[in-house]
Amino acid sequence: MSQPQEKSSATNPTPRNLTPAMERYLEVKRQNPGSILLFRMGDFYELFFEDAVVSSKVLGLTLTSRDKGSPNPIPMAGFPYHALEGYLRKLIVAGHRVAVCEQMEDPKLAKGMIKREVTQVVTPGTLTDEALLDPRESNFLASIWPSRSGSVGLAWLEVSTGRFVTTDLEPAQLADELARIRPSECLYPEHLTNDERLRPLFARSDLLATSRAPWCWAEESCRTALLKHFGTTTLEGFDIDGNLAGVTAAGALLEYVQEMQKSSLAHISRLELYRRGTSLIIDEATRASLELTRTIREGKRDNSLLSVLDETVSPMGARLLTDWLSNPLTNIGAINRRLDAVEELTCDTMFCRDLREILAETYDLQRLTAKIATGRASPRDLGSLTHSLALLPKLKAKLAGRQSVLLQLLEADLDLNAEIRSVIDATLVDEPPLLTTEGGVIRPGFNATLDELRDLARGGKEWIARYQAKESERLGLPNLKVGFNKVFGYYLEVTAAQAAKIPPEYIRKQTLKNQERFITPELKEYEDKVLRAEERAISLEQELFAALRARVAATTTRLKQTADVLSEVDVLAALATLAVNQGYCRPELTEEPILDIREGRHPVLDKLMPSGSFVPNDVRLGQRSPVAPRQESRTSIDVQSSSGTQPKPGAHAAAIAPIEAEVAAASSAIVSRSETATNSGRVQLITGPNMAGKSTYIRQAALLTIMAQMGSFIPASEARIGIADRIFARVGASDELSKGQSTFMVEMTETARILNSASDRSLVILDEIGRGTSTYDGISLAWAVTEFLHDQIRCRTLFATHYHELTELTKTLPETSNWNVAIREHGDDIVFLHKIVEGPADKSYGIHVAKIAGLPRDVIERAQVILAQLESDHVDESGKVKIPDRKTKSCDRQLSLFIEPEHPVIEKLKSLDIEQLTPIAALQKLNELRESLAK
Ligand code: ADP
Ligand code: MG
Repeated sequence: MSQPQEKSSATNPTPRNLTPAMERYLEVKRQNPGSILLFRMGDFYELFFEDAVVSSKVLGLTLTSRDKGSPNPIPMAGFPYHALEGYLRKLIVAGHRVAVCEQMEDPKLAKGMIKREVTQVVTPGTLTDEALLDPRESNFLASIWPSRSGSVGLAWLEVSTGRFVTTDLEPAQLADELARIRPSECLYPEHLTNDERLRPLFARSDLLATSRAPWCWAEESCRTALLKHFGTTTLEGFDIDGNLAGVTAAGALLEYVQEMQKSSLAHISRLELYRRGTSLIIDEATRASLELTRTIREGKRDNSLLSVLDETVSPMGARLLTDWLSNPLTNIGAINRRLDAVEELTCDTMFCRDLREILAETYDLQRLTAKIATGRASPRDLGSLTHSLALLPKLKAKLAGRQSVLLQLLEADLDLNAEIRSVIDATLVDEPPLLTTEGGVIRPGFNATLDELRDLARGGKEWIARYQAKESERLGLPNLKVGFNKVFGYYLEVTAAQAAKIPPEYIRKQTLKNQERFITPELKEYEDKVLRAEERAISLEQELFAALRARVAATTTRLKQTADVLSEVDVLAALATLAVNQGYCRPELTEEPILDIREGRHPVLDKLMPSGSFVPNDVRLGQRSPVAPRQESRTSIDVQSSSGTQPKPGAHAAAIAPIEAEVAAASSAIVSRSETATNSGRVQLITGPNMAGKSTYIRQAALLTIMAQMGSFIPASEARIGIADRIFARVGASDELSKGQSTFMVEMTETARILNSASDRSLVILDEIGRGTSTYDGISLAWAVTEFLHDQIRCRTLFATHYHELTELTKTLPETSNWNVAIREHGDDIVFLHKIVEGPADKSYGIHVAKIAGLPRDVIERAQVILAQLESDHVDESGKVKIPDRKTKSCDRQLSLFIEPEHPVIEKLKSLDIEQLTPIAALQKLNELRESLAK
């Protein structure tokens, strides 16, 4: 953003005609480059020059000008001071940095020009004002340092709660981490704008990339800034190696926040080290295509997995739930600890409901604590704090004596903060006001001097009321009134007509159109007492309040711990509530690379569709033996299970009443068939027409694995889930919006990434990969990718494809099995049963569906002829697709689905006997070959 003084003379006034206020404006503007400046003038915030032009568009303000008559009018826009919050939010959301410049003195008292200072610079990442923050979302500021060693340091901080984390990454991991953390602003060193490693940063449209001068990233001073802030001599206490690139990133970040906030940052008490590997790795594309926290098309939280899981009752819980979902665990012990707690809560629904009732009443303790630590808390905030603290003893009592380790730990960690609570209660009134300026904050009886001053003020006011009554009676003037203004304090007022009755001791102060105002020595004497007492009382209240706030701030660490406990209890209780309401079961986790889900449902569709209409499906991958017998400790909640888990025809089928019975019979026959199937190997190929339910089925497998690893129950009747180290989900070209690159290129880049980074413990979901290119290309690639996953990586794979040719893979790849989605025809209708059954799909379904859909008979017949022709070209005598032997490396280069005869020139070349050729004859042969090519 350019600065006004650099603007052309059209928008830049000559210094001669500047008022002192405008001079100050330009000075402040110079001190805050790159910020939109909101300049307080009286009851308005004004914007000038370029800022006025930009903001008038963003904020919908009318653009006017100052000094209209002059040759160089200054563009100007403004809004009333009380509308600051709304306008500030709009500017921030539009990605601007905003500096707010306030009047530092009362204009009525100021001598000369009013003093004005910038009191806050607000940027998307440094927001702390809860009016500007979404309570259910974390708001992170990040900082990146691409170090000389090659790795990338990344640090992120939530200013509103003080959570501060750092890590070192491989450059290739940056995009995924940014997608996971979703910072709203990210700092980067200006001189590295063209560094290849920073590309993922600029690719994100949902964050403000803020460049900072190179010296902000000086390693030594960054480390020193951190040490100084934490008051330590080393970072080892945080288990952090001081030489990490992430430390530089963290230091640069902290200094930026110090600069922006202009207030204490005491609530940032710890730097956490983030270690990849302790959580399930979900890359950016997978996050997006599984719609974990945002939907693909709308980019909204609604209808994402998060929105379905979120039964939390507090904003703290909602933020922690997002964190859990974004970072599922890989350690079975840790996952089971969560599951044990959720299970205990599902078994005692009264207990769970009681906890939630208490939690719903607490305020956002995390953000309150941060406000207290930074000195921004109002009396009302401290009131909210004690209100919340008052609920803790009840909560602690409820948590006492529980079975699960996690609930026991949470109970132990729940610090009642009883001492600070009683201090606040003794100091503050019951319902403290928002501001200290009007008084009425401190509880009567807390401070003797304050009580005296209040009595005095009150006594004075009572005296004045009596004085008014007395004088009006004495003078026979019923309309005589005592009034007050800031210029000459208390006065007596009568109408102009009555002024003649005024006695001589009254001193005339002001004559208005219809009124006369007077003072008397007696009145002035009391006025002094009242006003001085009132003023002193208020300033004493402010002092007492500041002391109280400082005292509360000293307990920040304990308050934060309490807040963390509350958010975790909220998440556990929310997961339990969801499990009970939706009829979920507890998954059993294992280290074996298997997936065995019985009657699983897609969590989002299951919740959105009418109850019972979603058709459950089994998923069985990577195991030879049937599912292990149920263990005692496993729970399956049997709520509405008759409707929730019984296979039922799809919604479509339900609408076709006459065939309902037939459909139900067909689908139950299918169920019994699929139940006898014991194993589907590691790789499942799912074929079938559009809208059959392939995508739903494979995504469901990934979503249930993620839910299980975050510690949630899942929509299934029972499940054994092998821990995945990574989950990959790729959606073929037509199913996903691309970012401007050719969709096929995107698809292949992402596929390459899977093949290069998946391990045998990964779960891979491929949806219609290969669609973005010609059919033969697509089939060949899909074929080879499947072989590679099967032979080399040996990971669990679900591949939905409409390439029927791929079903042949089961003949050569032993760990591969074919599945399709059951479909029933009925007269002119077809019904998708949404039931996954073993075997390849009927290959003529495309034409079949087209026929049912009413395509002309001629077209259908012609299509059948073409299909037969194509198939006869591409299948061998036994009816198999002609696929070259994958063992022969020599033909890798020309690997194609269909064997081609060799070129005649090659044949000739091969038949040459070089030893018998003279050099001349060789040249002649070469010429011959060339000519034969030209023909
Ligand atoms: P495909 O990938 O085979 O084209 P989708 O998985 O996209 O099909 O499913 C299409 C629609 O069918 C979904 O939007 C959903 O409405 C419905 N559907 C899919 N699976 C089920 C199911 N198991 N039960 C009920 N409806 C389903
Ligand atoms: Mg699909």
